[in-house]
Amino acid sequence: MIKTRIAPSPTGNFHVGTARTALFNYLFARHHGGKFLLRIEDTDYERSKKKFEEDIIKGLTWLKIEWDETIIRQSEHREVYATYLHNLLETGKAFYCPHTEKKLEEEKNGQIKNKAPLLHRCDARDKLLDKGVIRFKNNEKLIKTFDDIIKGQVGIFPAPFGDFVLAKNTRTPLYNFAVVVDDHETRISHVIRGEDHLPNTPKQILIQEALGFARPQYAHLPLLLGADRSKLSKRHGATSIQEYRDEGYLADALFNFLALLGWNPGTEQEIFSRTELVELFSLDRVQKSGAIFDIVKLNWMNNQYIGKKLPEELTMLAMPYISNLLQDQKSKIKNQNEYIEKILVLEQPRINKLSELPEKIEYFFKEPQYEKELLRWKSMSDEKLQQSLIHATKIIENIPEEHWNIKYIESTLLKEAETYNNRGELLWPLRVALSGKKASPSPFEIMAILGKQTTLRRIPQGPKPSYDIMKK
Ligand code: GLU
Repeated sequence: MIKTRIAPSPTGNFHVGTARTALFNYLFARHHGGKFLLRIEDTDYERSKKKFEEDIIKGLTWLKIEWDETIIRQSEHREVYATYLHNLLETGKAFYCPHTEKKLEEEKNGQIKNKAPLLHRCDARDKLLDKGVIRFKNNEKLIKTFDDIIKGQVGIFPAPFGDFVLAKNTRTPLYNFAVVVDDHETRISHVIRGEDHLPNTPKQILIQEALGFARPQYAHLPLLLGADRSKLSKRHGATSIQEYRDEGYLADALFNFLALLGWNPGTEQEIFSRTELVELFSLDRVQKSGAIFDIVKLNWMNNQYIGKKLPEELTMLAMPYISNLLQDQKSKIKNQNEYIEKILVLEQPRINKLSELPEKIEYFFKEPQYEKELLRWKSMSDEKLQQSLIHATKIIENIPEEHWNIKYIESTLLKEAETYNNRGELLWPLRVALSGKKASPSPFEIMAILGKQTTLRRIPQGPKPSYDIMKK
């Protein structure tokens, strides 16, 4: 049975890299009809925090990366680790090391000075002491290579690791030991994790062999890189899943995007449903080299996913982002829900993330504020501008209320615009008067939503375009 796991340490917020690893483990397990477990690696009792565990769980749940069985917490397994540690101590495969931090520091400084490998080969390994940290008795009978599904045969760097530490005491194991025990106890068949764990793997294999455990298959995923090809970090932008969620990326879009960070199906296709990803995913198509986290692509993908939402769903998703705009408007707008839905549907293809909405749609709720110069189409004179606005007002006044719909408004205005050298001379000032923006949807679309009265009210009137009615 294929069994994978994601094993985050709750020492920070749920990171996009961890989410990508979780997703690959999830897709691989689901593809093979296997299981995917969630293990919280809270062996570092001081740095582990409940709030980070909650953030991880919240993020996985939001992304719908669903794990099987109950959550495993290493802090609840101390007895199990103790049993295996006693086993290693009793069989002489591990020992208590009496050397103090100070002594080890001195040893290290000496090694640095002599350019010798930094390791501790303990002279007390056969003394059968009963106090101190627990170290692995490493006979340097090192495995020379191990197989990795993604990296191929991985050579073990020449530097040996000496008698490395397994646990601070029998109830406080360190990472490498706890991982080996838990992967064995839960029968993990494939360890799929970031390649930053490659240097840990030989130590874990030595521990497995000492305990007589089977070796799981390894698959080390390429690192996530920023656009400049350096390791992805805060410098490149948001790194926690919560930040992406807050900015208004949709869970489905992020799921799709993360799946393509280091994996591709071998075709040009980029938009995949969850089911398609489960069907197509294979470790064979995971690349060896770093995967670039391309925010431009994520924005494009999110735009595509937003574009597919039905109006009601879109409104529900958008509400937390726009509720401030609505606060003082509630009583003033008739058929508020319908009004909001129309606005959102209009902006739907134009936004990359939901947090862009308030700035984009504010003018539907408040009189726009803008520099009067923005009204001017290219270099048209003041007089031409004034005439254009007066003309627009006349045309609009003549549109009967019963024809107040986008088609009618558009054909009427376009027909009149043909009488100008460039139709921008009529349409640009009108559009700016309505939206206060350099870029916005067309004046027809805006008018259809604003209604005739508001539209007319927003157009500044002559003699000299009475800019005084516009707020600067
Ligand atoms: N706890 C480790 C981490 O947060 C993962 C360990 C593993 O996957 O073996 O990176």
